[in-house]
Amino acid sequence: MRTLRDLPSVGSLLAAAETSQLRERFGRQAATDALRAVLNSVRQDMKSGRPAARSEKDIVQNAFVLLERRDQSTLRPLFNLTGIVLHTNLGRAVLSQAAIEASISVMRDATALEFDLDTGKRGERDDHVRELLCDLTGAEDGTVVNNNAAAVLLCLNTLALDREAIVSRGELIEIGGAFRMPDIMVRAGAMLVEVGTTNRTHATDYLAAITDRTGVVLKVHTWNYRIQGFTAEVAGGELATVLADTAVPLMHDLGSGTLVDLARYGLNREPTVREAVADGAGIVTFSGDKLLGGPQAGFIVGKEALIAKINRNPMKRALRVDKIRLAAIEATLKLYRDPDRLAERLPTLRWLARPPADIKAQAERLQPVLARVLNANYVVETCDCDSQVGSGALPLDVIPSAGLVIRGRDNTSLDQLTAALRGLRVPVIGRVVDNGLLLDLRCLDDESGFIFLVSTLDIEGA
Ligand SMILES: *Cc1c(COP(=O)(O)O)cnc(C)c1O
Repeated sequence: MRTLRDLPSVGSLLAAAETSQLRERFGRQAATDALRAVLNSVRQDMKSGRPAARSEKDIVQNAFVLLERRDQSTLRPLFNLTGIVLHTNLGRAVLSQAAIEASISVMRDATALEFDLDTGKRGERDDHVRELLCDLTGAEDGTVVNNNAAAVLLCLNTLALDREAIVSRGELIEIGGAFRMPDIMVRAGAMLVEVGTTNRTHATDYLAAITDRTGVVLKVHTWNYRIQGFTAEVAGGELATVLADTAVPLMHDLGSGTLVDLARYGLNREPTVREAVADGAGIVTFSGDKLLGGPQAGFIVGKEALIAKINRNPMKRALRVDKIRLAAIEATLKLYRDPDRLAERLPTLRWLARPPADIKAQAERLQPVLARVLNANYVVETCDCDSQVGSGALPLDVIPSAGLVIRGRDNTSLDQLTAALRGLRVPVIGRVVDNGLLLDLRCLDDESGFIFLVSTLDIEGA
């Protein structure tokens, strides 16, 4: 039996041949720190009579595990089998190959980010997407910032600083992550003027609220909830017509903002950015990583004079996007020039448009695989289920899908299963429904990778 005094020193461990791999892979400093940490915990364990790793081999091995765990990124790729295609907590849109390649290329090399190659003079970063945005939306001008929250903040600050911003009471949304319209107004320096009621707002309500202090009328597309029953809202087109006789601009926050008619891909129709622009809004804002299927970004399109004013706002500089995202944005927008091939190139749209029969067939192929891996303690069945777009988009519309439902003997075995799936080299995230774990296969591309991965599954207690 070894005593504390018999434990090897950090110095002797470092000099040992067994630690050469440790030093090479993680560096001398990190190896030293890890060995010291393991030795400390071994000493603690021995003092309190707990079983402890005492051989040199065990100590080195423990240091290796410690360093490897620390080295692993927490920002890991995973299998999103939640059935929520644009899951905010799982990074929303997965980028197209074109966007990935464009980003890598500007990461690697110096880039004409703000340099006009025709004149040799200073250029503007918006120039890379301005024309695309105008072509795809019919707007006179456009710009891009960090995300749609930033777009809304910047527009309100530009158009309504120390002035009033009029919004319908039915559209004072919270979209999660502490983004509440009334709070954003305060931070933008605008004074909120609520009009109408929760369920009904009329054109006359807006008109009655307009004074010489009004900076903007804001219309918010309420993706993430629906008011039903005895309701009335003023559509963008009507509101723009009503405002035409005043000098007050209409700003339309579209939220998800699609650039194509989704009905074309078998999905429910949603108003497009082009329609909002054609309806006469002075400014339309929308996200880059929701239905558009690009990187996180906030687009602002609209009338030239208003965009120019927004671009002159010093806050714009604080909200701008970097070259990596700009490259991804440009490449994503370019895909929209060919709507026929969009669904095959843009993962978001490809997944949303995936036929249920195709997903069902995949579920039938994977059922026996999972049943074999998960022994007698679990029952694996194919099932029909419903996917959602996510990110607050079309929340009440579900998309028929298919997947696997796994049930255990009890809640403990279900917890063990979800934990084991999260612990895989590529974590698998499903959703728990009715005491079962549902794996909606809509977004599963890499079937063979998934099969290989689940074959390494090791469930504690099973
Ligand atoms: C999602 C959303 C936002 C915020 O967009 P982000 O790109 O997530 O910052 C703002 N307004 C509406 C209506 C939205 O749906």
